[in-house]
Amino acid sequence: AAACAVNTAGLYAQSSKAPSEVEVNRFVDSLMKKMTLGEKIGQMEQTAGQPMYTPAAKAEELVRTGGTGSFLFFTDPVRINELQKIAVTESRLHIPLIFGYDVIHGFRTIAPIPLAMASSWDPALVTRTQGMAAQEARAAGVEWAFAPMVDIARDARWGRIMEGAGEDPVLGEAIAAAQVKGFQGEYVGTPEHILVSVKHFAGYGGGVGGRDYDSVDLSEEQLQNTYLRPYKAAVDAGAATVMSAYMDLNGVPATGNKWLLDDVLRKEWKFKGFVVSDWASVESLKTHGFAADAEDAAVRAANAGVNMEMTTSNYRDNLADAVKKGLVKEAQIDALVKPILAMKYRLGLFEHPYAGMDHFKAVTGSAEQRTAVREAAEQTAVLLRNEGNALPLSAALKSVAVIGPLGDSKLDTLGSWAIHGDRENVVTVAQGIREALPGATVTAVKGVEIERGSATIFDEQVPPTPVTLTTPEAKEAEFQRAIAAAKSADVAVMVLGEAQTMNGERASRASLTLPGEQQRLLEAVVATGKPVVLVLMTGRPLDLNWASTHVPAILNVWYPGSEGGHAVANLLFGKANPSGHLTVSWPRAAGQEPLFYNRYLTQIPDDVAGRYWDMPSTPLYVFGYGLSYSKFEVSDLKLVSGTVAGDGTLKVSVTLKNLSDVAGAEVVQLYTHQRAGSASRPVRELKAFTKIALGANETKTVELAVKAEELSFWSPSTHKRALEPGAFDVWVGVDSSAGLHGEFSVR
Ligand code: BGC
Repeated sequence: AAACAVNTAGLYAQSSKAPSEVEVNRFVDSLMKKMTLGEKIGQMEQTAGQPMYTPAAKAEELVRTGGTGSFLFFTDPVRINELQKIAVTESRLHIPLIFGYDVIHGFRTIAPIPLAMASSWDPALVTRTQGMAAQEARAAGVEWAFAPMVDIARDARWGRIMEGAGEDPVLGEAIAAAQVKGFQGEYVGTPEHILVSVKHFAGYGGGVGGRDYDSVDLSEEQLQNTYLRPYKAAVDAGAATVMSAYMDLNGVPATGNKWLLDDVLRKEWKFKGFVVSDWASVESLKTHGFAADAEDAAVRAANAGVNMEMTTSNYRDNLADAVKKGLVKEAQIDALVKPILAMKYRLGLFEHPYAGMDHFKAVTGSAEQRTAVREAAEQTAVLLRNEGNALPLSAALKSVAVIGPLGDSKLDTLGSWAIHGDRENVVTVAQGIREALPGATVTAVKGVEIERGSATIFDEQVPPTPVTLTTPEAKEAEFQRAIAAAKSADVAVMVLGEAQTMNGERASRASLTLPGEQQRLLEAVVATGKPVVLVLMTGRPLDLNWASTHVPAILNVWYPGSEGGHAVANLLFGKANPSGHLTVSWPRAAGQEPLFYNRYLTQIPDDVAGRYWDMPSTPLYVFGYGLSYSKFEVSDLKLVSGTVAGDGTLKVSVTLKNLSDVAGAEVVQLYTHQRAGSASRPVRELKAFTKIALGANETKTVELAVKAEELSFWSPSTHKRALEPGAFDVWVGVDSSAGLHGEFSVR
C-alpha cells in the first residue's frame, strides 16, 4: 500500500462488492513476505486508547514502529485520522490500523439496550438498528464493534443480562445472526458497515451466582443444546471476529482454551475470522492459576488460537523469543496474523484508511438515526400489566406528574454501555410527555434519589449523576413534593428502576428490589388514590410483586435510548402500541435465579406450589409474555400432517384475530416437547416465532414451520447430535404458557 494523503471522501470510495478469496490471499501473502516477525506480532496487539493506559506519545510511537495493529476506545475521528496517518505514512509497511470500540446499542445516537432489542422478537428491526449504529461508528473511523454479546443469560442478578438476548437459544440464534447482518452488512467490507466481535466466547453468561467474571461450569449437554448455539449462529452468519471470554469454562480459561478456540470454533464451525482476547485476558491467564508467567500466558493464548491480545502486551513482549525457543511455531504466528490482515483488506482500509469528516458530520445524529432509535424504542417496550385498560392515557389530560429519579434523567434514559453516546440530545420521559401534551401542566419530581453503592469502572468515561439530597430533611421534603405533585395531577407517571450504572459490566446484584426508597415512593403515590402508571427503566427484571397487584399499568421500557421520551409518550398516549415480549423469565425474587422456562421436569404435578416453602417457583411473568392495546386471539391450530419425515418440516397454522379497534402486532410462538428420547427432554422449547401486524379487527392465518432437524438435540447419552424419532407435543400461543396443543411424530 502506498502512502496516501488524508482522503476526506473517506468511505464513499469503498468497493461495492466483496473481494474474492483469491484476491485477498494474494494481497495478504505478498504483504506477509515483507513482514518481520516483530511486525507480525505488532499486528497481534490491540492497544488501549485511553491516555491513562497509553499516553499519546507512546501510542504514536507504537504505531510508527509497527508495535500495534489496533486500538480500542478511540472515538474522535480527528484523533483516529492522526494515528491512521502515522500508520499509513510513517510505519515501514504502511499497514493501516483497525479501531475497535464497544458499539453496543448505538454510537452517538443510542438505541434501546440489547435485551430490549431482543424483546421486539423482530430480527429485521434488530438488523436495521445495528446497521444505523454501524453507520455512525464507521463515519467516525471506528471499523469494529465489540458486539453482539450473544451470551445466554438465565440469571437476572448478572449485570450483563442487559447486553444479551435473554435465556433462549433459538431466539438467541435469530437475534445474533440479525446483529451480525446489521453491523457487517451483506459482506465484510460493505460500505458504511463495520466488523462484529461475537462475545464472550463461550458461556460467560453462566457465571456462578450471577456474579460477573465468576467461573462457569456447564455440562456438554448445556453447552451444545443451549449456550454455544447463538455463537455458532453468529459465525454461520459471517461474523468476522470472536472475543474470547474472561472466565474459566469447566476449569480452563476461555482465552487459553484450545478445545474451544481450535476444535470447536475453527475446526468444527469453520470460523475463518480472528479471535481477540477480552480486556487483558491474556495477562490474566496468570491470575487463573493457569499460566506460569507472561511468556507462558502469551504462548498458551497464541497456541490456543487467540489472534489478537487486547490491551496488555504479553504478545509484543514475549512471542518473538518464544518463537526462537520453539514454544510457538512461526507458522502459528503466520496463521494468527493472516486473518487480521485479511479483515483489514476486506474492510478497504489499505485503500481508504481515513474517516471522512463531511460524512461524519452528515450522518451523526441525523434525522434517520433519530427516527430509527425512536421506532426501535416503541417496538421493544413490554406492557406487563394493564388492568381495566388503564393505558393508553387520554391526550386530553390537563396535568401529569412525572415522578421518580429516572423521569427526567438524560443519562439514565440512555442506559448502560452508551459510553460514547450523545448525552445532551436525549429526550427524557418528562420532556416527551411535555411535547405530547403542549396544553397540559407537566411537573417532574424525583421524589427520591438512587444512591450509589460503589464506584464503577465507567465513572471516568461517564460521570454519574450526582446525588443532591444529603440530609434526612432534604430527602423528606423531596419525597413530600412528589406526593403533593401526584395529588394535584390527573395522573402520576412514575418512572422507576435502576440507575444506568447498576447494570452492565461488573454490576451484578444480590437483590432485585427497586433500589433505594423507590418502593416506598411507589406505595405512597398509589396511596394518594390518583391513577398511577409505572414506567420501568431497567436492564434486568426487578421485583414487581407488589406493583403487579397494586399498580394498574406497568410498562417496561428497559433503557429506551436517545429518543426514549418521545417513544414512551407515544406508547402512553396510544400513538404507538406496545408489542414487545419478554425474552427472560421474570422472577418473583432473586432467590429463584437462575430461572428459565425450558427446564426439565421431575415430578407431576408441576411445581406451581411446593418447590419453595415461601413462594411459588413459577415466574411472575413467563418467558415470551407481553400485552398490547389490541385484543388478540389465537385459535384453530392445524398441523399439515401428524407425521414428519426426518428430512421434512413440521408445518402448522393458526388463526390470529385482532378483536379490537386498535391496530397492533403480536408475537406468535411455537413450542415443542419430545416425549421420550435417549436423554431427558425439556418441558418446552421454543422452535419458531413470527411477529405479525394486524389492523383493527383484522384476521390472518399465520403459518409456522420447523425443519425436522431443528428438533434434533445433542444427547448426553450418545454424545452426538441426532434427530431421535418419536412422539412430540406442539403448542402455539403468545407466550411460553401457550395453550393451543397438538401432537405429531417424527419418523
Ligand atoms: C468487556 C468486553 C468489552 C471490553 C472492551 C471488557 O471488560 O468484558 O465486553 O468489549 O472490555 O471494552
